[in-house]
Amino acid sequence: MLTNSLVELDRQHLIHPVSSFQDHEARGVRVLTSAKGARVTDAEGRELIDGFAGLWCVNAGYGQETVIEAATEQMRRLPYATGYFDLGAEAPIKLAAALAERAPGDLNHVYFTLGGSDAVDSTIRFVRYYWHAKGQPERDQFISVENGYHGSSSLGAGLTALSAFHDGFGLPYPWQHKISSHYVYRNPVGTDPQAIIDASVAELRAKIEAIGADKVAAFYVEPIQGSGGVLVPPRGWIKAMRDVCTEYGVLFIADEVITGFGRTGPLFACSEEGIVPDLMTAAKGLTSGYVPMGAVFMSDHVYQTLSDGAGAKAIGHGFTYSGHPVSAAVGLEVLALYEGGLLENGEKMGARLMAGLNGLMDHPLVGDVRGRGMLAAVELVTDKEAKTPLPASVQPATRLFDRAWEHGLIVRSFAQGIFGYAPPLCCTEEEIDQIVERTRKVLDLTLDDPEVREAL
Ligand code: PMP
Repeated sequence: MLTNSLVELDRQHLIHPVSSFQDHEARGVRVLTSAKGARVTDAEGRELIDGFAGLWCVNAGYGQETVIEAATEQMRRLPYATGYFDLGAEAPIKLAAALAERAPGDLNHVYFTLGGSDAVDSTIRFVRYYWHAKGQPERDQFISVENGYHGSSSLGAGLTALSAFHDGFGLPYPWQHKISSHYVYRNPVGTDPQAIIDASVAELRAKIEAIGADKVAAFYVEPIQGSGGVLVPPRGWIKAMRDVCTEYGVLFIADEVITGFGRTGPLFACSEEGIVPDLMTAAKGLTSGYVPMGAVFMSDHVYQTLSDGAGAKAIGHGFTYSGHPVSAAVGLEVLALYEGGLLENGEKMGARLMAGLNGLMDHPLVGDVRGRGMLAAVELVTDKEAKTPLPASVQPATRLFDRAWEHGLIVRSFAQGIFGYAPPLCCTEEEIDQIVERTRKVLDLTLDDPEVREAL
């Protein structure tokens, strides 16, 4: 009864992010009521394993008492302090220092935002300011990667390379360019890692030269492309792209909104790749989804250039909630949890998840399994040789999502027939095994779909 009225109120008043209003009205909302560890409960009392950590964000798992206490205590003592007018509070200062200490190389300066999109948006503004400060304002062209996701803000959505974020919005802007994705499973040059790296290097060079080497401001990458379908580049790809940017004096921006905070193993994926970006973004696992927060990490040279360029003038970029003390208090506590055992557990469980999912390769519908740490994907096909995608009529984004839900599993089900996994790092072995078993069940049932049977 309660659920029915909520569903109706939702239909009438709540606009859901990245949704078809019509589909949503037809399907209605599924209301979640509580959660603990890696499990969530819905309004019907059904318990599910959250194989996607909310939206790849609840890395520390639900119901962590120390995090709840830290937030409560901060709210009680000082719920808000602005960072404007040279004011501040203890928690954001300590969090910035802790992050700078752990970030790759000389990413020593941290600018807090409210989430990932405004972190990306902030980098665009900082990059423009940087090139003005350098006396090269004509460096105003940006390059990102097909299938990439860099948020939904007005500027950042044009760096995102997914059509739903462009169509009808007049995006991308003419200064936003793309190169092809590494997408190993479907790369036209084949699956050989070096061939893929060489092709991307050649394409980035050609793109920079076509635009004009003195016009390109920055290049954006995700260490692993998330929303594009969990696309893992070959080892060395990121470093090779970083080297091209260094050669042309183009700023290299790593978007670690998904990959940060233990998702792929270490705190930051860039550390594993052996590179230091000029700027880096993070969000999600930074506060593990308990409260909103994002961050821009700035290297010494970018910071110094902005500082010198502005002199005594204020750099006009800020939010009321930049460095929110409650979010920062949560960030500090979540960091303590990661370093107090969660990163280690995530590494172990990530290996188990990958082994389990690799075990699904014998299934007739599984064409590819990929991932790193607690970030993985299974790509479904109806012909392994030809790599034929599932027929669109199967509507994976809804039908397969629902099917997993009915079997007690939340998994991201991409429209192109890819399951995405990003479980909380606190998962137990049993939970990881259940994620894999339930996936197999969903795959078996999908084999019986008439559209699939016809396509096989
Ligand atoms: N960058 C990346 C790589 C992301 O995955 C996301 C969110 N999925 C964003 C930016 C935007 O973050 P938010 O949704 O917190 O605005």
